[in-house]
Amino acid sequence: MFNDKESFKQHFKEQLVSRLGKAVEEATPGDVYKVLGSMVREHAGRPWATTNRMYRETGQKQVYYFSLEFLIGRLLGNNLLNLDLLDMVRTGLAELGWDWEAVEEQETDAGLGNGGLGRLAACFLDSMASLRYAGHGCGIRYKYGLFEQKIIDGHQVELPDNWLQRGNVWEERRADKAVEVHFWGRVEIAEEAGRLVFRTVDQERIRAVPYDVPVIGYSEGSVNTLRLWSAESVTDMSRIGPGGQHGYHQYLDYNRSVESISEFLYPDDSAYEGKLLRLKQQYFLCSAGIQSILRTFAKLGRPYRELPDYVAVHINDTHPTLVIPELMRLLIDELGFGWEEAWDITSRTVSYTNHTLLSEALEQWPVGMVRELLPRVYMIIEEINKRFCAMLLDRYPGDPERIARLAIIEGEQIRMAHLAIAGSYSVNGVAALHTELLKSQVMAPFYQLYPERFNNKTNGITHRRWLLYCNPALSGLIVEAIGTDWMLSPRQLRLLEPLQHDASFQEKLQEIKRHNKLRLADYILDKQGIAVDPDSIFDVQVKRLHGYKRQLLNIMRVMHLYNMIKDDPTAEVVPRTVIFGAKAAPGYYLAKNIIKLIHNVVEAVNSDPDVSKKLRIVFLENYSVSLAERIIPAADLSEQISTAGKEASGTGNMKFMLNGALTIGTLDGANVEMHELLGDDNMFLFGLRAEQVLSYYRDGGYAAREIYERMPDISRVVDQLVQPGPFCAQEQEFIAIYQSLLDHNDEFFVLGDFHSYLAAQAAVDHAYVDLSAWMARAVKNIAHAGHFSSDATIHRYASEIWGISPI
Ligand SMILES: *Cc1c(COP(=O)(O)O)cnc(C)c1O
Repeated sequence: MFNDKESFKQHFKEQLVSRLGKAVEEATPGDVYKVLGSMVREHAGRPWATTNRMYRETGQKQVYYFSLEFLIGRLLGNNLLNLDLLDMVRTGLAELGWDWEAVEEQETDAGLGNGGLGRLAACFLDSMASLRYAGHGCGIRYKYGLFEQKIIDGHQVELPDNWLQRGNVWEERRADKAVEVHFWGRVEIAEEAGRLVFRTVDQERIRAVPYDVPVIGYSEGSVNTLRLWSAESVTDMSRIGPGGQHGYHQYLDYNRSVESISEFLYPDDSAYEGKLLRLKQQYFLCSAGIQSILRTFAKLGRPYRELPDYVAVHINDTHPTLVIPELMRLLIDELGFGWEEAWDITSRTVSYTNHTLLSEALEQWPVGMVRELLPRVYMIIEEINKRFCAMLLDRYPGDPERIARLAIIEGEQIRMAHLAIAGSYSVNGVAALHTELLKSQVMAPFYQLYPERFNNKTNGITHRRWLLYCNPALSGLIVEAIGTDWMLSPRQLRLLEPLQHDASFQEKLQEIKRHNKLRLADYILDKQGIAVDPDSIFDVQVKRLHGYKRQLLNIMRVMHLYNMIKDDPTAEVVPRTVIFGAKAAPGYYLAKNIIKLIHNVVEAVNSDPDVSKKLRIVFLENYSVSLAERIIPAADLSEQISTAGKEASGTGNMKFMLNGALTIGTLDGANVEMHELLGDDNMFLFGLRAEQVLSYYRDGGYAAREIYERMPDISRVVDQLVQPGPFCAQEQEFIAIYQSLLDHNDEFFVLGDFHSYLAAQAAVDHAYVDLSAWMARAVKNIAHAGHFSSDATIHRYASEIWGISPI
């Protein structure tokens, strides 16, 4: 049906009528999306089956990437791109009178993730399929994804993200592959044939039903599977729970509690939420996922001790760490293994990625909660800890302090990162700096114990979604210049480097950037009624709102700039449009306060005739993958300004680089590696280094109030947070921010980095005046961005961690 344009058009018209029972003329863009999506999904069916059959028949090693989050966004355009059908379908639809963009806009983002961590999982799926690695995703089919953000009077309001409301053409429900997951109950121990056997009784039973989504690789890639689990009630009412509940009302209660398991994604980023329901979600995914893996493995007819040769289980952060005790449980209780052998199999199967150094994000579950909800799993964790500590005692006799620092269970808490490291064969950080800090600080005693387990895998992004798909004009220009090899090998983008100073190439790049900026300007005008100047610098910070990401530093420099222009309205200023997009966790008061502050500054700046000629501020609501795809191609300047040592890697930074924006940033996360590639001239660096930040935390010596008292431009902005004036209607409106800076000594060094940031921004202004030199830097950025392709990252995971090769 997609052989050529004419037959596509023919088929499409027929399908519109037969699927919808409507005449072609009556179809809405929503109808067009639905029918086209279903056709694409069907088209992928054959290669999907082929890939699956091949995996079954060759028995080759399979990777299962477990993640509580997959922030995949929209699939129609990306799937068409990967199938090499996008241009043909676009033209075909146009000839039938349909506008591609309008059709594309009909798809609701699959927002099953908070931010970078979930987006990384999605980029990895794309790379694994495109590079023909046998790698699959395991996640939860949340009924509600990350909340939809609305801004009302400058305040964030969260609405449920009912993304499945209009159906999901990509998923396949596989009721035949359902498994059961059990909670609560009690463990009975008996002796059978001289060995202890464990049976858990009186449990609540949950049916886990997988929904499979094909992950379509690019150009002759594989079609792998993203398996998302949904919680359902078991149907035989007699045996649903403790003691076997019978009544109708009990059944309804049970039903309600079951549904809640896969109901919503926890909207927290970089913070740990110790809630029972979250623990249920984690175990639900781990148990269903591991059972299904073992069932697939069993069909190979190999002995279970060979599991690590055929299966790699990777856990994306500690959220799925319960795969370790769950695999132990199944091997021991269901398959009859002894402890030693089960442990050997498990710890040679599981590998772990650490995503954060922030202590508030390190997961710890209370012993009591785990013991009650998962009694048998808890026993296993306890035994793992017991044996681990015994080994430590052997190794570090007379060093109880060290043992306490390493223990998995300590102070009635289970430290999930410790369990993940103890029970796996590989621990990786996500950027060089992050891995070094893991080894030297946060996980130092583990590094001393198991140096061979630690390795770095710098994050990456898929250039298919983040360039080919979202910036077709730039892709076209690159093809015109260096051909198409870079599409399969993004490092080939390096061939652009000789064009850095090519005037005609620069001009074309500039034209494309301007075109993308105009497109974003239209969107901003449409959504916010704000007219922005396409010739101004589009200065963009889009990411989750968090103290360490320092949106506050950015908005305070805007306040400062406002003050400067008001003091001297005739001053020469390089025009800027400062664009923000950020969701704050619903319970994160300070972050929400910063969103309100940004909106007050938007009001003050944009409505002031002196200021708004040179400066416009925009906050785009509901930052998401599809919005990122619109914003990033239009950016001139990428704000990556986290407190050094806090951002594990960042991937937003890479997307901007690939689209020809220059970076202003700190030496943090992957910015460090970016700087190594690009050099000082191609990046606007500022601020404290990670070691300096660490030494302040360790030894003291940072005094925010002193800076405030010494620097009049800083105190002026800080005072404007609490005094009625241009940014503050009510007195004390931003007292929480004010106190975080002065009373709590500015944990993220906003004031300490303020002047250094202003200097870097002045360097940006200076650089932008020479547009040709700016474009030369943009070319260099694009030319080096292939370094951050998730294809390269996945090759390294495959060869250095999982031990697999492409088929
Ligand atoms: C890439 C991406 C992120 C991560 O951005 P960082 O700047 O690395 O924090 C978050 N959200 C969305 C929607 C993204 O596409």
